[in-house]
Amino acid sequence: MEKLAKLRAQFDQLGVDGVIITNGVNRRYLTGFTGSAGTVVITKSEACLFVDFRYVDQAQSQAENYTVIELERQSVFTGVAKMAERLGLSRLGFEQENVTYRVHTQYQEAIQAEMVPLSGVIEGLRTIKTAEELQKIRTAVEISDAAFTHILTYIRPGITEIDVANELEFYMRKQGAASSAFDTIVASGHRSALPHGVATTKVIETGDMITLDYGAYYQGYRSDMTRTIAVGEPQDELKRIYTIVLDSLENALAGIKAGMTGREADALSRDYITEKGYGKQYGHGSGHGVGLDLHEEIFMSTTCEKRIESGMVLTVEPGIYIPNLGGVRIEDDILVTADGIEILTKSPKELIIL
Ligand code: ZN
Ligand code: ZN
Repeated sequence: MEKLAKLRAQFDQLGVDGVIITNGVNRRYLTGFTGSAGTVVITKSEACLFVDFRYVDQAQSQAENYTVIELERQSVFTGVAKMAERLGLSRLGFEQENVTYRVHTQYQEAIQAEMVPLSGVIEGLRTIKTAEELQKIRTAVEISDAAFTHILTYIRPGITEIDVANELEFYMRKQGAASSAFDTIVASGHRSALPHGVATTKVIETGDMITLDYGAYYQGYRSDMTRTIAVGEPQDELKRIYTIVLDSLENALAGIKAGMTGREADALSRDYITEKGYGKQYGHGSGHGVGLDLHEEIFMSTTCEKRIESGMVLTVEPGIYIPNLGGVRIEDDILVTADGIEILTKSPKELIIL
């Protein structure tokens, strides 16, 4: 109910007297309904979830604070139009990033009320995690931490990146994850210079650095962590950039706090890496929100003016990538608290040489 109250409190500012929510992740966030189709309409006085016959029972049991309306022979457009007419709504917000031109046209033809494009409204609410959400994220992080401990006993020269990814994913499922949180990145040797090197058939060799970027998907929530390890003694330059990346991460973890902007938080790791001469080799943002989605608000980068707030779960993930040599990224998940941060990821960060 708190989520509904927070959303309704924004209606005047948004200039709407109701909103249509069609984004599946936002639908799940608001209602608790995990089905793959359904439309949410929230007004000052009502909260309805429109579903087709496949989902009526599930919606009724999961969407506790919602009136479930079955779309029998009517389209969702007619259903929403009737509701809008009954309540005398004049301005209905919709999620402009999610509604196609065709769907928008169909709503406009059916509904008398003016359609008002909205952006990032539910995504904004989602940045501050509830206690229940935090519990699920913590479990997802624990599963990925346990998987890291396990994979260190498995990695050896002669196996492929895909072997490593499969083992990580299988292990996380055995620990209760529904799946991996995203396509597991296992980038070894020269491939570790690819920030998003999804596992391939490349064989792991002695002297390779291996970047493992993966997470667990647990009860709708995701973890997202990266560790870079070595198999046998790596080249000196790789060891040097490892230390720089680790120090830049520690710098960021020591400095991030509620109230600073995403740009200021980004600078904590970026300025350090730039000072050491590798600024150009750190070409991505330094972190992002994580929760129901892998990448969600806020996105810490050189242009982010949004403020970090207590209750946000963020990643911090500096990296350096050198073509034809290799790369290093280290990524933690953190919870922003009233007086600093809590580091959720517990896996060791000193360079591990297998
Ligand atoms: Zn990651
Ligand atoms: Zn990430």
